[in-house]
Amino acid sequence: ALVVGRRVRTRRKWKRVVGVLKELEESCETTVGRLRQVVDAMAVEMHAGLASEGGSKLKMLLTFVDNLPSGSEKGTFYGLDLGGTNFRVLRVELGGQRSSFDRDVAQQAIPPRLMTGRSEDLFDFIASSLQHLVEKGNDSEQSPIIKELGFTFSFPVKQTSVSSGILIKWTKGFAITDMVGKEVAGVLQQTLARKGLNMQVAVLVNNTVGTLALGHYHDADTVAAVIIGTGTNACYWERTDAIIKCQGLLTTSGGMVVNMEWGNFWSSHMPRTSYDIELDAESPNPNDQGFEKMISGMYLGDIVRRVILRMSQESDVFGPVFSSLSVPFALGYASMTPLMAAMHEDDSPELTKVARILKDDLKIPDLPLKARKLVVKVCDVVARRAARLAAAGIVGILKKIGRDGSGCIRVGRTRSDTKMRRTVVAIEGSLYTQYTMFREYLHEALHEILGEDIAQHVILKVTEDGSGTGAALLAASHSSKSVDNVQ
Ligand code: BGC
Repeated sequence: ALVVGRRVRTRRKWKRVVGVLKELEESCETTVGRLRQVVDAMAVEMHAGLASEGGSKLKMLLTFVDNLPSGSEKGTFYGLDLGGTNFRVLRVELGGQRSSFDRDVAQQAIPPRLMTGRSEDLFDFIASSLQHLVEKGNDSEQSPIIKELGFTFSFPVKQTSVSSGILIKWTKGFAITDMVGKEVAGVLQQTLARKGLNMQVAVLVNNTVGTLALGHYHDADTVAAVIIGTGTNACYWERTDAIIKCQGLLTTSGGMVVNMEWGNFWSSHMPRTSYDIELDAESPNPNDQGFEKMISGMYLGDIVRRVILRMSQESDVFGPVFSSLSVPFALGYASMTPLMAAMHEDDSPELTKVARILKDDLKIPDLPLKARKLVVKVCDVVARRAARLAAAGIVGILKKIGRDGSGCIRVGRTRSDTKMRRTVVAIEGSLYTQYTMFREYLHEALHEILGEDIAQHVILKVTEDGSGTGAALLAASHSSKSVDNVQ
């Protein structure tokens, strides 16, 4: 009787843990119908953000980038990329022919103390790295010819021109309060001058804009760019007459890149759980960046951590409540998601990788196989929801610019593809490039939402290091020295 009683108790305990998973699955549900509602909401918010300043949670920021690199750019340009966990400086030699360029890149992790300290320290650090690269190159630092630089600064910036802009707010764990409201390129320019670097900030751009520039350089059908890394965002090419909030805005090309800042998108159709609500409340920026908090690398791992914590609180079959599980962002902002990906993609029958990560990184030893399977399932639910929401976001953009196939002629029961143009979306960021399951779920959802006949015309193209190289290319296409700037 004693043994039977114990067995019944154990079964009940497992039931409670499985119940946590079931509840998670239900509240993360992303049926194609629901995704289509998110698509519509994204397109509606895009219109609203373009109609008036503050008209939507989507800022739809002007970039003043009104021509994209054509391939004919020539000369030496520098790129500087600040915005995530790493910081990059690069020199690009452009030969005047599409695809013929040489690069020299240096990458460094940003010391966490600089992300929340004083702006002076961060910019000194950036300028020193740039100085190193310049000194390493052949062109002497003392050269009288001014060097032109594309500065990728991947935070919401209200541009005042293509080469200047004011920081609206920080995201992704950065919190240097004295920078908010400051003109970003000016701060860099002053630091460069102080270090004696003869360099001019030719363009100040978001990383999505750099990615679009590089994408377009390689493939002229590229109309939008998406980043899904530590944070998430998208930009796209818009007609100036659709940017109602800037009536009379004229560009020679008739268009301009718009930085959506879609990380701040919100729709009541998005499936939100108690874990999302808690994560938001405990984050450095509550009530902000709602879409980003469900999609990007800084947060996904922490959602998983919260679910595992709830499971272990629910029942001791999952082990005691480990202190390592109780701290928000216990493993640092961005480092939990790669572990999540590794656990999710562990295909060994005994889930040995899961066991190792739980033991070494999360300090949870000896979790039985049954529990390890549940952990994998949690990763799956969280990653799948994120990837499907990102897909809905992409289709939202396509809908706004009339590339979702809704304008296609219907022939019989299927849509004719005769009118659908080849549409390329440049995509970058570790979640998409390094997390296979995430990428597959995203593609799957894209096909479900659009239908096969339309989806075959939409190409997501990985555009590696678009943020850095793209900025150098934009410096070239917007350079005062440049000869041939056409869209
Ligand atoms: C920032 C965007 C950036 C994105 C991807 C977001 O947190 O607000 O400006 O493009 O992250 O790095």
